[in-house]
Amino acid sequence: MPGLPELNLILLGPPGSGKGTQGERLQEDFRLPYYATGDILRAAVKEGSEVGKEAKEYMDRGDLVPDEVIIGVIAERVQREEAADGFILDGFPRTVPQAEALDTKMKELRREMTAAILIEVSEDEVVRRLSGRRTCEENPSHIYHVDFDPPQKEGVCDIDGAKLIVRDDDKPEVVKNRLATYREKTEPLIDYYEERGILNHVDGERPPDEVEEGIHGILATLRREEEEGM
Ligand SMILES: [Zn+2]
Repeated sequence: MPGLPELNLILLGPPGSGKGTQGERLQEDFRLPYYATGDILRAAVKEGSEVGKEAKEYMDRGDLVPDEVIIGVIAERVQREEAADGFILDGFPRTVPQAEALDTKMKELRREMTAAILIEVSEDEVVRRLSGRRTCEENPSHIYHVDFDPPQKEGVCDIDGAKLIVRDDDKPEVVKNRLATYREKTEPLIDYYEERGILNHVDGERPPDEVEEGIHGILATLRREEEEGM
């Protein structure tokens, strides 16, 4: 389909690559809605939409929500006015079959993904970032890092004085497992988007501001190409 001036983006990168941070910044900078899969699933359940009800059945049973239900939730979002100029996906697709299913759905909606942005971070750096993370026991949005952002008093939250803990997700063994899953299931996605000619890389080991600048550069180029292609 000839280039619609849309930015339909997928953020890719290992756990700890800062996708969430960059997604939130992009949402502000480009006024595109940021769809972190977990968040939009929970929102759909809360709103009680048709797909939300379906998702809830699986979640209530403690089962994984199947791909087609997640895609239903994404499709419902993508068709909203807020996503008319594009959107940012984070957390889905995670596997090649999911990416294929997403492409099929997008085609049905007469749209297509514009770019996949891979935030590259080495495994050593991921382990260093995640295993040093400390989270407030009372409020999980209070996050510190033993090296990069230590609290004033070791093991204590600056904001409310609560104890700082290592989340299960950030324990070294779990981090290694998450990385192994990423390597096995998600890395093939890099080839998938490369073959489709929409993969873009950004060095995720630089400070967040510079990563953000790198992504801006990529998106500016894309927008220009789309405009020229019209
Ligand atoms: Zn706290």
